[in-house]
Amino acid sequence: MAPASRGSRSACRGDVGSLGAVEQTHFDLVIIGGGPAGYGAALYGASAGLNIALVEKDKVGGTCLHRGCIPAKEMLETAAVVRTVAHAGEFGVLVEPVGLEWSTVMERKQSVIDKLVGGVTGLLKNRKVTILNGAATLGANRTVTVVGGEDGSETATLSADAVILAPGSVPRVIPGFEPAGPVVTSDEFFDIDGVPEHAVVIGGGAIGCEFASTLADLGSAVTILEALPKILPGCDSDVTRVVLQSFKKKGIDIRTGVAVTGHSPNGSGGTTVAFGDGESIDTDLVVVSVGRSPYTEGLLGDGAGVRVAERGFIEVDEQYRTGEPSVWAIGDVIATPQLAHVGFAEAICVIKDILGEDAVPVDNANVPWAIYCQPEVAFAGLSEDAAKAAGIDVVTSKHRFGGNSRAMIIGQTDGLVKIIAEQRADGTAGKLLGVHMVGPWVTEQLSGGYLAVNWEATVDEVAAFIQPHPSLTELFGESVLALTGRSLHG
Ligand code: FAD
Repeated sequence: MAPASRGSRSACRGDVGSLGAVEQTHFDLVIIGGGPAGYGAALYGASAGLNIALVEKDKVGGTCLHRGCIPAKEMLETAAVVRTVAHAGEFGVLVEPVGLEWSTVMERKQSVIDKLVGGVTGLLKNRKVTILNGAATLGANRTVTVVGGEDGSETATLSADAVILAPGSVPRVIPGFEPAGPVVTSDEFFDIDGVPEHAVVIGGGAIGCEFASTLADLGSAVTILEALPKILPGCDSDVTRVVLQSFKKKGIDIRTGVAVTGHSPNGSGGTTVAFGDGESIDTDLVVVSVGRSPYTEGLLGDGAGVRVAERGFIEVDEQYRTGEPSVWAIGDVIATPQLAHVGFAEAICVIKDILGEDAVPVDNANVPWAIYCQPEVAFAGLSEDAAKAAGIDVVTSKHRFGGNSRAMIIGQTDGLVKIIAEQRADGTAGKLLGVHMVGPWVTEQLSGGYLAVNWEATVDEVAAFIQPHPSLTELFGESVLALTGRSLHG
């Protein structure tokens, strides 16, 4: 791929907003979509000297900052504070019974979002990225038409040496469960007006489990309805077992292998959800959490030349090229793991490709996964079942937080670390294939395991590194050490 030219005019670089004020119409790079993938590409590309326009039809930050990662984790943190206060007596700290001031819960969530959006927007402006508010449509030969303004009457036509499509995704909806009244998707969840007495979460994937965990810790009675035989598909079975036990302790009722068939509002704000073989449940809130669909509405105009596959994902090759010269697609709109950090990594890869540098694409099988329910889940690489299904001989090591000093100190001993390593011909453990964690703050502990798996390190190599004491990460160290055939505490 030829490097982009750099000679564009820069009359309004760094400006935000009004299409009427667009003086410059040709850019090195036009990016459609201001979520993590799009703004990530803009920040990285601008830091490499590209002259960039970023077009966003809603708010810079995308799903992640406004309706996804950030509000979800912020509300999980409120739930964590509730748990901490509820258990304060165990530490000899005597507090009044916990109460929730919902307006403060909402204000804090919004203030975190606002600060992050302000930070990203500030970085983009400092790097002279031109941000345009409007809906963009790609036409022939990398022409991008933008429609915006208060009444949608402003337009601008941009051209570019390169275009990145990063329009993201939207919540998938089950027919009959369109968001209205007590039925919400993740788009509406973060604006609910209080903690419901009872909630049904449809879907036991990562996001569904985060919602269930949040609501249960805030005081709701929660039922998860999952059509598949188990929740958290893709996680190692030992990890899922710990989550199941912990969710049961919270009082979350988990029903697997049941599909919802409809619901009928009860006239007092709630509804009755029908599921399975003629069963039903009355509830105050239904959270539909059944995955996300790629979003390409209005994106591709005549002559865009970009192919959309059957399931709605934009087709790309291993370098995220669409097949149309100098047009790339990244983030949730392509069929790669729908994660913000994958979007960032794809963005970096594409910018390098645009610059004509070597770009190593993301290894989708080994990306880090983090699920922030309580207990948290984090993993990278193969689960034991997946390794065996792939015909790989493995050895495993499993250690529980119950014996870890820091976990005892903080009073959170549910959970484990499991290592999956390839078995050498002599029966000893070789390369690390998977690191799976469930328990306190494991989302903050995965990086060592992620690095080891992606570095294709062996058990002996990783075991030589030390972990601080007392720390939760000692459990990762112990689990790897045990695979060398010797151990300390394990
Ligand atoms: P998006 O973030 O969806 O952004 C796309 C942007 O493009 C939007 O702002 C949209 O308005 C804009 N756009 C679309 N079409 C046009 C157009 N034609 N013209 C102009 N603008 C357009 N991921 C994680 O990694 N960690 C997590 O903990 C995590 N938690 C999540 C929790 C929830 C509840 C949800 C819903 C998602 C979560 N995700 C998480 C997923 C993460 O939010 C997405 O993977 C990420 O936001 C995708 O980034 P993106 O840039 O591809 O798309």
